[in-house]
Amino acid sequence: MCHICGRLIDTTLPVNDRMGWTLDHRVPIAVAPHLAEEPGNLAPAHRGCNSRKGANPNFRHEAPRQSRIW
Ligand SMILES: [Zn+2]
Repeated sequence: MCHICGRLIDTTLPVNDRMGWTLDHRVPIAVAPHLAEEPGNLAPAHRGCNSRKGANPNFRHEAPRQSRIW
């Protein structure tokens, strides 16, 4: 399950798919570099959710967009 939007992640999708699986840092590395490899700071997320979250630690629970941006 994606920790950002709360939806299931289809692990059969290619890793570069917007809805594919990524490992996200709950507290972004840009904010807390010392937590980069802390297991408790890692959580699964959709690639699209992870990208939109970026380095904003307060980004949470926004539904994924339904269309692609090319
Ligand atoms: Zn998501």
